[in-house]
Amino acid sequence: MYKHVCSLLFLLALLTASAQAADLTVTFVSCGQGDAALIVSPTGKTVLVDGGPPEGTERLLQVLKKRQISAIDLVILSHPHLDHLGGLAQVAKSMPVRMFLDAGFPSTSPPYNNLLRVLAERGVAVKNATLGRNIDLGDGATLTLLGPPSPFLANTRSDVNANSVVARLQWRGRTVLFTGDAEPEAERFLLEQHGKDPELLRSELLKVAHHGGRYSSTAPFLRAVSPRLAVISSGVGNDYGHPTAETMTRIQAVGATLYRTDLQGDITALSHDGQPWQVTAEAAPPVAKASHGSSTTPAPSLVSSSPPAAPTPATPIEEGFVASRNSKVFHRPSCPSVALILAKNRVSFASRAAALASGRQPSGDCSP
Ligand SMILES: [Zn+2]
Ligand SMILES: [Zn+2]
Repeated sequence: MYKHVCSLLFLLALLTASAQAADLTVTFVSCGQGDAALIVSPTGKTVLVDGGPPEGTERLLQVLKKRQISAIDLVILSHPHLDHLGGLAQVAKSMPVRMFLDAGFPSTSPPYNNLLRVLAERGVAVKNATLGRNIDLGDGATLTLLGPPSPFLANTRSDVNANSVVARLQWRGRTVLFTGDAEPEAERFLLEQHGKDPELLRSELLKVAHHGGRYSSTAPFLRAVSPRLAVISSGVGNDYGHPTAETMTRIQAVGATLYRTDLQGDITALSHDGQPWQVTAEAAPPVAKASHGSSTTPAPSLVSSSPPAAPTPATPIEEGFVASRNSKVFHRPSCPSVALILAKNRVSFASRAAALASGRQPSGDCSP
């Protein structure tokens, strides 16, 4: 009998341990010139924030498949621009979507109306974002809606962008801010709200607004958010010059480590049991730029006889530790930040002792 009680207790302990061990992950999909981020909550709830441009649809579906996602609990469309909604109709056709939420900003865009039609056909509940609403993702993980502003902003550079859904994810002290393509006017609105609650915007990880465009990510906004990590989602060689040097400089000036889907592939931030974010980058095949012509077939490759090139690893394999000539910190060679160090500035150390002896500190992102 005693033995049975013991094994029962052991089993309970095991069950409790597995119930408590939980991960929150956020993956920024390298989908070309656009945004798509997948949140998987500690209880397995799935949220897709935007669905990338049409040409990134295949990549988005690949990532969902690889993560074994068979249903989406909530799709959030930040705003009805094609580089954010392009893959969503296909996602809704591929798997059950339980709820769809967007800013409710009026749009006559045909792809947006097509998406609404697909959602209606599939019986997906469609809701408008309401300011201050909290969405429960289980185990205390919450998405709080901080935008669009109410009433909607008008007479901005782009009212569709300015009225993006802005959402802050929090769980056991870990925080992420999703900004869509928020414009400076939207940032001003958020700062006004932040004035009443100084924790409102503060977030460890910032999804940089508008693909790193020059007008967004104003210095006061970045100071209020005070991110340690920042992710820019943009396409290789895009026509908009995203991300811009000015914006990247402003982000680095607040001390955030920058990650880019165009250079590093899929960027995943994972918190295990509420511990600090671990960020990993996974090389992804480049997404071809959208063709503006009528042709749907991609131009044949000029080197079609050679085998397809292996994807470039996000970080070169190197022994020891790596730093930039211009930086006071050093990294593990596998750290995604290393990919952002220009070759001419890169210095390597054979050992940790040698890196410390150079007067540098271990970097906060990979804790070498
Ligand atoms: Zn936009
Ligand atoms: Zn955009």
